[in-house]
Amino acid sequence: MKYVGAHVSASGGVENAPLNAKNIGARAFAFFTKNQRQWFAAPYKEENIINFKSRCEEFGYLADYILPHSSYLINLGNPTDDGVKKSRQAFIDEMKRCEQLGINRLNFHPGSHLNEISVDQCLDRIAESINIALEETSGVCAVLENTAGQGTNLGHTFEHLAYIIDKVEDKSRVGVCLDTAHTLAAGYEIRTREAYEETFQKFDSIIGFNYLKGMHINDSKKELSSRVDRHDSLGKGLMNMDLFSFIMNDPRFDNLPLILETPDESLWAEEIQLLYSLQK
Ligand SMILES: [Zn+2]
Ligand SMILES: [Zn+2]
Repeated sequence: MKYVGAHVSASGGVENAPLNAKNIGARAFAFFTKNQRQWFAAPYKEENIINFKSRCEEFGYLADYILPHSSYLINLGNPTDDGVKKSRQAFIDEMKRCEQLGINRLNFHPGSHLNEISVDQCLDRIAESINIALEETSGVCAVLENTAGQGTNLGHTFEHLAYIIDKVEDKSRVGVCLDTAHTLAAGYEIRTREAYEETFQKFDSIIGFNYLKGMHINDSKKELSSRVDRHDSLGKGLMNMDLFSFIMNDPRFDNLPLILETPDESLWAEEIQLLYSLQK
């Protein structure tokens, strides 16, 4: 079965995320565990946690279909010791928030080398950051998102992600989330049947579908290999609806959170129905 949803707002309290998801007919959802543009946030109150869990239960959201997104400030590959320490602390805090909410995965962007260290040195730092975070938490999988490769962001090639996974000690708690817009912008063609099969074959042989923990379903304003991350609403960008039909009819994407991060949230309910309507 396919579980389509969107990255919904958690403003006013984390317990609003499942409610916002239900209101657009989502079977899965994402949210920020705390304000994504600030380093620190007050801990959840007991009542936030209780209400979040009871709403997830009431609306039928199982942990496997909830894919929170970490703060954009975190850079687990930060070249400076102070910088990486701050990011590791913030990441561990987010992992612990997931634990508190009974969530089993946390999605994040791998990191950036900021032109101060080599690609491999940065990937090593990211893997070390994950190992530290996994050591200090339990039950939550660290989910690396593939990126568009904008600026000095790493994680835009399947090889980068495989390199990191290889250095993570507990393989049962590391995974991958693929964003369709990032995949295209990073240089992987996915819009024709042939290219789609080839790209996901490559993904399977380099990383493995067993590591896939979720998808971000976005159209893209930017072309193949542009290395620029600009999402668009479904059917409005350069993607074409064929790609979304391939995904919705591909059993390799069953039982995963398929999360819209398209820019016009007033369209989410429609976009979710549109995706389901593509199923043959
Ligand atoms: Zn992301
Ligand atoms: Zn993006």
